[in-house]
Amino acid sequence: MIRFEQVSKVYADGTTAVDDLTFEVAAGELVTLVGPSGCGKTTTMKMVNRLIEPTSGRILLDGEDISAADPVELRRRIGYVIQQVGLFPHKTVLENTATVPHLLGWKREKARARAAELLELVGLDPSTHGARYPEQLSGGQRQRVGVARALAADPPVLLMDEPFGAVDPVVREHLQNEFLKLQAEVDKTVLFVTHDIEEAVRLGDRIAVYGHGRIEQFDTPAAVLGAP
Ligand code: ADP
Ligand code: ADP
Repeated sequence: MIRFEQVSKVYADGTTAVDDLTFEVAAGELVTLVGPSGCGKTTTMKMVNRLIEPTSGRILLDGEDISAADPVELRRRIGYVIQQVGLFPHKTVLENTATVPHLLGWKREKARARAAELLELVGLDPSTHGARYPEQLSGGQRQRVGVARALAADPPVLLMDEPFGAVDPVVREHLQNEFLKLQAEVDKTVLFVTHDIEEAVRLGDRIAVYGHGRIEQFDTPAAVLGAP
């Protein structure tokens, strides 16, 4: 589904963020990218939806070289959730969630119905939480809205960059468990960045262990934990 072939990224200031990455993620697989800050995890993710272009190498999505894809069309196929989900403050949660269906040209009622369905999917009540404004939600609830919005166009691929990094540990564990249930239902191909090895182990079908710009190990949680 996603294939990196000898991908490197050197930023304009000479920083090598990612060095000769080759790996493959199967359809429906959830791969966690784990490692210390600054080792290239976010750069890897942003190259998948072309927020960043590789310096060399190529990335294939479903066998197609993404450098030839239209970025807007590409991003419809890729949901993206970051640590501090940005919601429109003057729109309700339901309206925020309906934004993508709207952009896809859906009629208002159909977009709102889809938004309600998505909110339910992430454990929010469309009629109560949906009518609130983002500031009236807890941090954990806002991240759920971010996940709902990322799923709106029903993309086959989800990029999650520390989506639960800013919520407290109890809520985080709750969100992790719910995300696993959700993933069992929606069956997306997921790249999930975290610096927390416990989270990587709990969520990942496989784990890519990053060290300085490279993947040092790419294996199942059991194999990673069993490593010396
Ligand atoms: P991680 O997500 O693992 O924290 P990043 O991919 O964000 O790592 O960053 C990898 C390296 O690239 C770091 O050394 C970081 O400082 C550097 N970097 C990230 N973005 C830029 C940029 N726009 N310009 C220059 N260097 C950058
Ligand atoms: P969580 O455990 O998910 O972080 P909180 O303890 O922050 O939730 O909030 C508990 C409940 O109070 C939630 O249902 C949330 O929607 C509601 N809530 C939190 N902040 C506000 C607010 N400013 N206005 C209205 N309701 C709020």
